[in-house]
Amino acid sequence: MPDVVVIGAGAAGLMAAVSAAELGASVTLVDKNRKLGRKLRITGKGRCNLTNDCEVREVLSNIPGDGRFLYSALSAFPPQAVMRWFSGNGLPLKTERGRRVFPVSDNANDVADLLVSLCRKNDVRILNAQVLGISASDRIVRSVRTGSGDISCGSCIVCTGGLSYPLTGSTGDGYRFAEAMGHTVMPLRPSLVPLECSDPCCGRLQGLSLKNVELRVFEDERLLCREQGEMLFTHFGVSGPLVLSASARMRRMESAEYRLEIDLKPALDTKTLDQRLLRDFSKYANRALSNALVDLLPHSLIPEVIHIAELRAELPVNTLTREMRKRLNQTLKAFPLDVTGTRPYAEAIITSGGISVREIDPRSMQSRLVDGLYFAGEVLDLDAYTGGYNLQIAWSTGRLAGLSAAKNRK
Ligand SMILES: Cc1cc2nc3c(=O)[nH]c(=O)nc-3n(C[C@H](O)[C@H](O)[C@H](O)COP(=O)(O)OP(=O)(O)OC[C@H]3O[C@@H](n4cnc5c(N)ncnc54)[C@H](O)[C@@H]3O)c2cc1C
Repeated sequence: MPDVVVIGAGAAGLMAAVSAAELGASVTLVDKNRKLGRKLRITGKGRCNLTNDCEVREVLSNIPGDGRFLYSALSAFPPQAVMRWFSGNGLPLKTERGRRVFPVSDNANDVADLLVSLCRKNDVRILNAQVLGISASDRIVRSVRTGSGDISCGSCIVCTGGLSYPLTGSTGDGYRFAEAMGHTVMPLRPSLVPLECSDPCCGRLQGLSLKNVELRVFEDERLLCREQGEMLFTHFGVSGPLVLSASARMRRMESAEYRLEIDLKPALDTKTLDQRLLRDFSKYANRALSNALVDLLPHSLIPEVIHIAELRAELPVNTLTREMRKRLNQTLKAFPLDVTGTRPYAEAIITSGGISVREIDPRSMQSRLVDGLYFAGEVLDLDAYTGGYNLQIAWSTGRLAGLSAAKNRK
């Protein structure tokens, strides 16, 4: 009988299995996929942004809601220790813009392969099977039920991930296992996800990428967040780094109204932008409005801006009134879009919500309800912004759960 069964061989499960085995526990790692770490292999556009080279408090400040639960796990295995762990195990790392850490090879497979090889080196038994449930009696874990039989065990660590990108194997099974054990699952929703908009212009602008713009999000007409960077129009709405980050802050999608404003010229205040418009209009004094904006805007955006400003494309620029220029200015500083919802889980980088951390001991990751039951990774009610923080959560909680389960073995 193994001391520890780890359910799910993603980032958290692989780390938990290696960590428990390093302390001498006999470990069985079960995953329904033959290929282990499938999601890990596609992270960071195939390059794996495996952590962020920052202090623990900065990791915590990149977790919306209350990340304090993670303080012990992060302090025990902070970003610098994660970096030392991977490089010490033979994976050279590099740090890029925004202190994002990647393998020097730019290949996420190297991260997953290293973890799998460390499992093998530490005699972790790897089983390709679907876990169907966990059995407990007297509030103590007894066995893990799989499609190919029951595995009796001293403890089990649930690392089944969330609901995002279900083709990688993350189909939310861990939430059901936890509920069956009496745990509470906090409401789930896709996060770091593209947004759907009702405005027909998105379809017309499909494929247009905007750099150096400011995206402002309004929740029930109150400014929720603003950030500068890149975004993209798609057939359904908007996507790209600015939009994904903003989606993580939009946490009341069912009940609140969300509206976006794109500042197309964040470097120019209204007055400077007006001077710029006047300059362009005198340069192109004999042109129609649509042909006088070519220095200022991407081609496809010009008719949309003119339409929203309630002007006509064929208007000669030398006939534009101050009032008309003001409307143009306002549209350039606040191009409006109405959000109707998020894209589905299949397109979401992470799942927000999950197993309530109130029912878990933060010093060990063990359930407060069932002895020998541990949780780690995205299955927990924890998520973070982009920048390597989500994998940092998986490493820290996975390591703490693995070490605790090994130390507590009977
Ligand atoms: C496209 C994409 C890019 C990303 N890029 C980054 C990035 O660069 N940096 C970053 O920090 N985060 C990134 N993330 C987020 C990050 O990948 C996740 O937060 C992290 O992988 C979660 O790890 P996990 O081990 O908790 O779950 P997962 O990696 O989802 O692993 C869960 C595992 O459990 C297995 N499983 C589930 N149910 C069962 C069952 N019943 N029986 C057996 N096995 C089961 C699954 O097959 C899977 O292998 C990205 C996510 C996506 C989708």
